[in-house]
Amino acid sequence: MKSRTKIGRTEPAGKLLSTGVGGTVAIERYRLCSSCGNFSTLVENQQYCISCGSKLIETCQHCREPIYYPTAKFCPSCGEKYGKE
Ligand SMILES: [Zn+2]
Ligand SMILES: [Zn+2]
Repeated sequence: MKSRTKIGRTEPAGKLLSTGVGGTVAIERYRLCSSCGNFSTLVENQQYCISCGSKLIETCQHCREPIYYPTAKFCPSCGEKYGKE
């Protein structure tokens, strides 16, 4: 059984990408506010926007692609707008 607690999380916050030169680089994941465009990193563990109080989204609501670009308005994977339908 997998429990999610704020303390002692061991899962990585981002995914590792190969740089093609024999190394890897950690890509930070973000949560986005679909109302005002505010964002926070996943490791900050914020569930709601600190600016407007809306629920933050952690993945694209259309294709479930994780969010790696905090200033993006559209999903780079499926092209749909983040947030509201
Ligand atoms: Zn907001
Ligand atoms: Zn998408």
